[in-house]
Order: sequence, then C-alpha cells, then structure tokens
Amino acid sequence: MSQVPVVRTTKALRRTVGQWRAAGERVALVPTMGALHAGHLALVTAGRKRATKVVVSIFVNPAQFSPAEDLSKYPRTFAADRHKLGEASADLIFAPTVPEMYPDGFATTVSLAGPALVGLEDAFRPTHFPGVATVVCKLFSQCRPDIAMFGEKDYQQLQVVTRMARDLDLGVTVIGVPTVREADGLAMSSRNRFLSPPERAAARVLYDAMTAATRAIRATGEAEPALATARAAIMQAGFTLDYLEFRDAATLAPPLAVSGAPLRLLVAARIGSTRLIDNIAV
Ligand code: AMP
Repeated sequence: MSQVPVVRTTKALRRTVGQWRAAGERVALVPTMGALHAGHLALVTAGRKRATKVVVSIFVNPAQFSPAEDLSKYPRTFAADRHKLGEASADLIFAPTVPEMYPDGFATTVSLAGPALVGLEDAFRPTHFPGVATVVCKLFSQCRPDIAMFGEKDYQQLQVVTRMARDLDLGVTVIGVPTVREADGLAMSSRNRFLSPPERAAARVLYDAMTAATRAIRATGEAEPALATARAAIMQAGFTLDYLEFRDAATLAPPLAVSGAPLRLLVAARIGSTRLIDNIAV
C-alpha cells in the first residue's frame, strides 16, 4: 500500500484540490487534530461514501486550547496517523505548520452566538469555539471542499460549524457522523489514553447514565427526575460533573417540553486530570 501524500502549505493543497475539481471530482474534508482512532476513521469512511476524494487535515490548533489546557500534552502520532489513513483510503493529508495557519500579525476571528452560546462547553471553555470556528473557516477556505465531515461526539461543535457554514455562505455542506464507541459504550476519544485503569473502568458510567436517563425520560415524559438520577450516578462513580443537560437537538437551547422537537442529552465530566464529553439523542 502506498503512503497517503502529505501537503503542508495552502498553496500545495489548493493545487491538488483544484486539479481534482477541474476533473469533476467531489471533495470531502475531514478536519482532525491527529491521534487518530476508529472514530476519526469513521469520518473518512463516511466521506468516501459521499465524495470521490477525501482530504484529512491534521492540525493541533493552538487557538482552541486555553492557557490552562496543556497544548503541549496533546498526543502527536503523525506516522501512525498516516498509516491508518492509508488503510482507510484517504487521498491527501493536509498538515500545516502553526505559522502557515497563523502568520505573524494574524488578527481575525469568527465571532459566534446561537448554538455557541448556550451554557454548555462555552461556559467551561469560553475561548474554545471561537478558536474552532476560525480554524474551520480557514480550512474550508483553503480546501474548498464540497462536504465536510464532523463527529456527533462533539455535538455542540457540530452545531456551531453547521450554523457558521450556513450563516457565512461558506459553500460547504457539513455532515454529522454518529459517535464510535468502545465495547462498553465509552465514546472513543484521544483523551481516553490519559485515563488510569480504574478511571477507564469508571468511565462507562457516562454512557450508561445517559442511556438510562433517556429511557426514563421517554417512559415518563419527565426530565428532571431522570437527570437527577443520572447526575448522581456519574458523581458516585468518581466524576466531577460540569454539566448533564438535555437540549433542543438543533439550537441547543433548553427545550420547553420533553415531547416535540428532537432532543439531545449532553454531558461533560472530569475524572483525575481528564475531561470527557459525550451525548446521545433523547
Ligand atoms: P479531534 O481530532 O478530536 O478534533 O476530532 C476530529 C473529528 O473527529 C471531530 O469532528 C470529532 O467530532 C470526530 N470524532 C472524535 N471522536 C469521535 C468518535 N468517537 N466518533 C465519531 N467521531 C469522532
């Protein structure tokens, strides 16, 4: 199997994608920060189904980390990532440097509201979504894909990016891909590697508590008792809970009623030095 080609500059990316487009290819972009696992590869596979060429970007974006979050600790596994992308039949890796993405004097960011300001991740990581949206806007403009694949794992991010693409007429269709989970239900994440064995064993509580709460909400039509039980179970397992909330699936606003529009249950919780997020449809 030949290695997936790597480009490191916007110019080289545009040259290749431009040739593809001239030849009538349909291009999918899969933005990642590397440390790839089966969840990322599901995005590549989903891209393959809907497009004829798949570009995967690998860029650990400093702008989406706060000073308190350790950017230097983020896992970097480029050789292994490239190998996995070969097996998943990606066509091109875009792996820009930090100065390529943020040249001296960089001064522009995307300003967000709507699903980016609803008191979920934004309340705990206030600089995160402006950093994500700005880099995704750049990636869309650099690559000009037809479609872009994002995981439901980062559900608020998916809604933020979807809204940005629509509001700014970016000409890219954002497609959400279902969360890939470990056998016990834990959502795959590059952060799972930081869990100690007891923390890893405890972590299944997130999915278990969410699925139990969802069943109870559906059965009773009432949210609060089910949420209280789930919150207690998560804390009992040793987590500090940032939030467990159910929201309108599209706007992420608190829903007026349990029935009606599609709902999403979202959780963020910390154990040891690791913060995990997850969500499921209600
Ligand atoms: P990251 O490299 O963590 O920024 O993630 C890159 C993309 O992969 C994002 O769109 C994530 O939502 C998606 N992703 C991460 N983990 C999973 C998973 N377990 N299942 C599906 N998609 C995922």
